[in-house]
Amino acid sequence: MTDNFIRDFSQTKAMFHLPDDMIYLDGNSLGPLPKAAAARINDCVTREWGEMVITGWNRAGWMAQPTTYADRIGRLIGAEPGHCVLGDTLSVKVFQALAAALDLVPDRKVILTDSGNFPSDIYMAEGLIKSLDRGYELKIVPPEDVADHINNDLAVLMLTQVDYRTGRLHDMPALTAAAHDAGALAIWDLAHSAGALAVDVASGGADFAVGCTYKYLNGGPGAPAFIYVAPRHIDRCQPALSGWLGHAAPFAFEPGYRPGTGIERMRVGTPPVLQLAALDASLDIWDRVDLEDIRTASIALTQQFIDGVEAACPMLTLASPRDPAERGSQVSFRFADGYAAMQACIAHGVVGDFRAPDIMRFGFTPLFIDADDVTKAVAIISRVMQDKLWDAPAFRQKAAVT
Ligand SMILES: *Cc1c(COP(=O)(O)O)cnc(C)c1O
Repeated sequence: MTDNFIRDFSQTKAMFHLPDDMIYLDGNSLGPLPKAAAARINDCVTREWGEMVITGWNRAGWMAQPTTYADRIGRLIGAEPGHCVLGDTLSVKVFQALAAALDLVPDRKVILTDSGNFPSDIYMAEGLIKSLDRGYELKIVPPEDVADHINNDLAVLMLTQVDYRTGRLHDMPALTAAAHDAGALAIWDLAHSAGALAVDVASGGADFAVGCTYKYLNGGPGAPAFIYVAPRHIDRCQPALSGWLGHAAPFAFEPGYRPGTGIERMRVGTPPVLQLAALDASLDIWDRVDLEDIRTASIALTQQFIDGVEAACPMLTLASPRDPAERGSQVSFRFADGYAAMQACIAHGVVGDFRAPDIMRFGFTPLFIDADDVTKAVAIISRVMQDKLWDAPAFRQKAAVT
């Protein structure tokens, strides 16, 4: 069988602008710039916005982009075509998914998540519970205990598939099946999965899925989030964020809200057109890769990194699962002075990031990181750690974004 996928990732690496003298192990947090993005954005600004002005909504197809581009992401997460839409930020999409899911299970009050979930997901759930004021309970349990807390009280299981700190990977199909057996629904946050590994929301049974496009998907800072709603639910979903572009007839300007057809109803307001242009350039690359190839390469890179760092840096403790089948595409190490150590790594040309309280996090993105990069990164990190290059006041100065 032949397909048009790029199998040699040196070709995709050449499609990114990567700063000189920097090994970028942070594509899990903010993907780098696809070289084609600058021209694509410039075209959107000068030819579309500049010359078409308001006619761009129709003539340049701006209004359709949140669904057409979302379908390209849909392929990466195993969604049925026509069941994803882009817009807003991930925090907003979490709120939207949870509100819709709770509405579909009206007689139950428990929302279950785990302590490894990203704080914003938990904060949004807290805010929604407060505004609904119907006695919902948010249960937060350790990640390894989630399965034990799925029972017949559960309304919604809300999890992030890959833990942002440790990279621990939840078994999405198994936990979703358990939630369904208990009569509950499952929402999956794919922030650290989409573009990192092959996800299959349709066959995995996810009721809702959400994710962002500025991490592995390289859509750029401020790129919109996506939401997936399973076909069996979409026509019964009542959007809590009932904005005009999710209305059945936005340009009828009716006084009351009527939800739009299918996934259209999960739109809220005006699409971020310039951000979508950047995302389009990135998706031109993603359209040409197979997630199975990405996963194979990612496992090789993370394994090489763990072996190299562990051999040279006994002061670092692996915080990620050792079994590649149980981790996403990042590797984290614990170190008491992790913040300073990461600042020193960055100063010496290896960019990862720090997550409180003591996690040094490195992301592996086969589209533009190869084995040679990992070899070099391991050598630099080893020198920073062995020679205590991090032990300087300048590296302890905390910046606003860590
Ligand atoms: C990155 C991330 C977010 C960020 O949300 P934004 O609204 O896009 O800032 C939320 N949840 C998870 C799980 C994340 O990893």
